[in-house]
Amino acid sequence: MKSQDIRKEFLEYFKSKKHSIVSSAPMVIKNDPTLMFTNAGMNQFKEYFLGNTKPTSKRLADTQKCLRVSGKHNDLEEVGHDTYHHTMFEMLGNWSFGDYFKKEAISWAWELLTEKFKINPENLYVSVFEGSEDRDNLKLDTEALKIWKKIVPEERIIYGNKKDNFWEMGDQGPCGPCSEIHVDIRSAEEKAKIPGRDLVNNDHPQVVEIWNLVFMQYNRKADGTLEELPAKHIDTGMGFERLCMVLQKTQSNYDTDVFTPLISEIEKVTQSKYGNSEEVDIAIRVISDHVRAVAFSIADGQLPSNTGAGYVIRRILRRAIRYGFTFLNSKEPFIYKLVAVLSEQMGNAFPELKSQKTLIQNVIREEEASFLRTLDQGLVLLDNLMKSVPGNRIPGEKAFELYDTYGFPIDLTSLILKENGYSLDEAGFDAELQKQKDRSRSATQMSAGDWEELTEVEENSFVGYELLEADVKIAKYRKV
Ligand code: ATP
Ligand code: MG
Ligand code: MG
Ligand code: MG
Repeated sequence: MKSQDIRKEFLEYFKSKKHSIVSSAPMVIKNDPTLMFTNAGMNQFKEYFLGNTKPTSKRLADTQKCLRVSGKHNDLEEVGHDTYHHTMFEMLGNWSFGDYFKKEAISWAWELLTEKFKINPENLYVSVFEGSEDRDNLKLDTEALKIWKKIVPEERIIYGNKKDNFWEMGDQGPCGPCSEIHVDIRSAEEKAKIPGRDLVNNDHPQVVEIWNLVFMQYNRKADGTLEELPAKHIDTGMGFERLCMVLQKTQSNYDTDVFTPLISEIEKVTQSKYGNSEEVDIAIRVISDHVRAVAFSIADGQLPSNTGAGYVIRRILRRAIRYGFTFLNSKEPFIYKLVAVLSEQMGNAFPELKSQKTLIQNVIREEEASFLRTLDQGLVLLDNLMKSVPGNRIPGEKAFELYDTYGFPIDLTSLILKENGYSLDEAGFDAELQKQKDRSRSATQMSAGDWEELTEVEENSFVGYELLEADVKIAKYRKV
């Protein structure tokens, strides 16, 4: 089943259950000082859940473009290294605003996965909130448990803690327990060795969470206490690329037709091969992922820049360039060449990719050219450094200067030093980095909720949470 058909079938199914299908909200959020990027399907419905606005329909469904690179949901470091977290991904979702509740949400999710999509039920695990003995003193979600028990045998029900199975919007507002659906796509042989339930929520690439069903039944009041909501809501989110992995029977999101056209193009333009070496594979995954995040963001009107959301986008693109430069030996702009493939493949579902194609290509090409120049200059500086130090050990503060002032990535520094028979005083570098972190931390404030992710949308905010991305500093010192 092609990814396009999977998306369509999801929406059709909920249409048949009387849901109105709505468009994805923009991935880049304008006019909301508390959230820069959409990170979940429910973001665009926040006002409905808060009761400030009435929805046009009590049942909605959609596919939402999401970006998880900051705040509470920051998956950036995982992306490319694992095979199921992306920066930009689609979240399929269905919602009930004071209409149906757990029984329908659970049985429809199950019916769609096992009957429409024909996933073997024996490969699925589900979780229920186990309760908590903290100040909320919540009980086990017996309501959900009872419903699940009628559907799945007990050995495939997991009791989850507050971290995994209780959702809150922020310090205040609607919240509630959730049930997640996880899928085990390992071979029979692997399954015989370790039961799937032991691997749920354990970062196993073939035992992954696909769908989260949130049951909003409480309101967190300003004093921190919970009260039952008069009207209860459903908010679900399913990772589209992960669903494609399951339905297309691949072992990785990157082997689905969401990514294979992009990967083939990367292989072609960089003369590399996917599947032969771990380093190259990671680089190819990073690039195929990041080009989507950047292209969708530019299509939403957010160009790379030195501040705010544009700064985050610039960093993502530079991460991709850096992986290409280091591991695919790409010294010339090439990422912009992937845009045509992306637009061809996803332009039907997201027409903005087609209408903005030329702009996206031009912007990415310019960014690539400019950052590649920076990397080139860094190489010269590093070369001089190696010649000037006595012995073959580079002091930490020198490497830090290269990183901090000139924006030369530290992993690249280490690699080049190693290749030339030099070593790096890593402890010295870490100490300098720590000093800088402490300086910027005092200038940064963040909270952990889905909203109020940044209190100040400005350059300093970004320096605080990801110093290891060397490109962060470049924008501060060089006006590119
Ligand atoms: P995980 O535990 O795998 O990080 P999550 O619990 O953070 O996922 P939710 O916030 O529950 O994810 O989002 C709903 C669904 O969106 C998940 O069940 C998953 O299928 C998908 N999803 C979440 N994060 C990503 C990501 N970075 N890339 C792709 N899909 C994702
Ligand atoms: Mg996560
Ligand atoms: Mg999870
Ligand atoms: Mg989850």
